[in-house]
Amino acid sequence: MSAVLIDGKAAAAELRAEIAREVAELPRAPGLATLLVGDDPASHIYVRNKRKQCTQAGIRDLHRHVPGDVSQDELAGIIDELADDPEVTGILLQLPVPGHLDANALLARIPPTKDVDGLTERSAGRLALGKPGLVPCTPAGVMHLLDRAGVALEGAEAVVVGRSSLVGKPQAQLLLARNATVTTCHSRTRDLDRVTRRADVLVAAAGVPRMIGPDAVKPGAVVIDVGMHRLESGLCGDVDTERVAEVASAITPVPGGVGPMTIAMLLRNTVRAARLRSEDTVGTRG
Ligand code: NAP
Repeated sequence: MSAVLIDGKAAAAELRAEIAREVAELPRAPGLATLLVGDDPASHIYVRNKRKQCTQAGIRDLHRHVPGDVSQDELAGIIDELADDPEVTGILLQLPVPGHLDANALLARIPPTKDVDGLTERSAGRLALGKPGLVPCTPAGVMHLLDRAGVALEGAEAVVVGRSSLVGKPQAQLLLARNATVTTCHSRTRDLDRVTRRADVLVAAAGVPRMIGPDAVKPGAVVIDVGMHRLESGLCGDVDTERVAEVASAITPVPGGVGPMTIAMLLRNTVRAARLRSEDTVGTRG
């Protein structure tokens, strides 16, 4: 292997320690309200990890667990209550919600100052317009890893594979904001390898196990693997890491790359939400 491994585990631990110090200096510890609807086992695990890391950093855990048969109106009422509660700094509605609920309508009730997942239309709009606000955790984590690794973004060719609202689109916006020349690929992109081979920085977020092979990577490129797949052979990402590492200059492993950054960025967003609230630069609900 010739590529340097970008260590997301170490970066996340460093960031969590930094956040814990920041929290300790705030006049009042921020409070994160995770909102879990129903009993999806994977969601339970995700929320449990978020709560654990939040309390370890000194953030107050204001978790709510709501039965899966809650009505849209009831859940909307709970979100409004959290939105109005000054003790609540950040609100995270764990997705997916049960099928009878309209997730977008629920997310829309979260004020931008408390939108620690950065998934509401208003947060996405602010990101697209280059205004300050809270940005989705996974792409923000990717930016943190690139910066920590000292990757020059200005004028660089950046290619993002994937255009979801959770990862691909905000990733492209964040890279654009840093003056990279950004191309976004998706399932209809023709000759994907030809496009990805242009990249100085390649972010793979397609959700297809090991789809990015060495022929899709420019020699010396920095490759960030957002994909996460649990196969019988173990965990892997969207990149064929072992073979791509022979071509790339730096690469994130799976596990231990982007994954650990996501919750760390949630904690950072919660602290940022506390600051935004006091500065009120994002405006309030309504
Ligand atoms: P998603 O909503 O399924 O979006 C996947 C995107 O990839 C879509 O835009 C899709 O194109 C595109 N795509 C699919 N197959 C493709 C192909 N063969 N060639 C080119 N583009 C293709 O997934 P997501 O939520 O963005 O997540 C992407 C991956 O990241 C998943 O593996 C997920 O598990 C992982 N993830 C990891 C973390 C973490 O914390 N590590 C967080 C979030 C997500 P169309 O738009 O044309 O359908």
